[in-house]
Amino acid sequence: MTLVQSKHVFSDRLGQMEESSTMLVMLAAQKLKAEGVDVVDLGAGEPDFNTPDNIKEAAKRAIDRNFTRYTPVAGVTQLRDAILYRYREDFGVERKREEVIATVGGKHSIFNILMTLVNPADEVIIPAPYWVTFPQVVHLCGGRPVTLRTAPEEGFKVTLDSVSRHLTKRTRVLILNSPCNPTGAVIPKTDFLRICEIAAQHDVYVLSDECYQRFLYDGGEPYTAAAVPEELRRRIIVSGSLSKTYAMTGWRLGYTIGPAEVIAQIAKVQGHETSNPCSIAQAAAIEALTGPQESAQKMIQEYQRRRDFLVPALNGLPGIRCFKPEGAFYVYPDIRGCLKGEMRTSDDFAARLLSEAHVALTPGSGFGMDGFVRISYAAAYSALEEAVRRLSEFIRKL
Ligand code: PMP
Repeated sequence: MTLVQSKHVFSDRLGQMEESSTMLVMLAAQKLKAEGVDVVDLGAGEPDFNTPDNIKEAAKRAIDRNFTRYTPVAGVTQLRDAILYRYREDFGVERKREEVIATVGGKHSIFNILMTLVNPADEVIIPAPYWVTFPQVVHLCGGRPVTLRTAPEEGFKVTLDSVSRHLTKRTRVLILNSPCNPTGAVIPKTDFLRICEIAAQHDVYVLSDECYQRFLYDGGEPYTAAAVPEELRRRIIVSGSLSKTYAMTGWRLGYTIGPAEVIAQIAKVQGHETSNPCSIAQAAAIEALTGPQESAQKMIQEYQRRRDFLVPALNGLPGIRCFKPEGAFYVYPDIRGCLKGEMRTSDDFAARLLSEAHVALTPGSGFGMDGFVRISYAAAYSALEEAVRRLSEFIRKL
């Protein structure tokens, strides 16, 4: 028998999907590091802090008491209650256990929500610059991402007016991500509420990605879409994550809060997909959510100190203009003033900066607004100082 050596054929679903640009930069930087090059890596959207000890201890105890089996798909009741406890403590909001499900990280939560709500050709409004994953997951679900461009000169704010202009009969979901990856922009609470109202009036779901919920600076008050007035709640779905707040990126623990009917459907999807999130990570998450919160607060203070160094330092460089964001741990400077000759795009800029000055950052092309780059300041203060020094030298030589 002869084997057929034909090409691999992949599903049509993957047709429009692109590889994650943030992952590509990480790989290129890792390759250089493996060759022994001293790379200043500002590409990763990951806290440079370790998971706090109390959380790690809870996980060790879970292993020792053999908490290592399947749990209910939506997570153990103690975890669902712990998520609700946090929301009650932080935002004074009362939600029911059936309105929450634990997921394998925030990314999984977003995937489940879109899988549950989006039909082929449904439109999903995504403000740009956006987190790279949003349009890709919409494609995977057969939906149509509709880009809503925000303006750098307005601090990348999503406004009620711009949302209204993008709503059509086919709009199914509006994604909001405040504080935003990659810009750090924060939608003021009153605007956020009015946007939720207009979406609900049009029978459109709001997917509020609150992964950076607590990362607010200059005394900004965190808020959540879970706390919108009762009459709007039917159309509001919150996606949350412990990854950034508790420096738990590798544990893979997130959650979704929404109407009980939607959560039940999400649980159906998750039941056939991953089943429950890792039992040990669940035990760790219960401690993270109900234990002392000081470590999260300390990290946030340190991020503010870094932002306060980085933004003026970048604005002091020729050809760079940087908006000062109020949240998350990213800045999204305009580098168009540095583009000349062969270097035409943010991809060209990032590639040359990495190979010549050994600074890794993420080109804006993958975030839906080119001519900008994303710099993560989830890196040591000294690494930021060194990056600015190298960047300055690199620009001067152009
Ligand atoms: N949403 C946004 C905006 C993010 O930046 C990230 C992580 N980079 C996530 C969700 C998902 O994080 P995780 O899957 O680690 O919870």
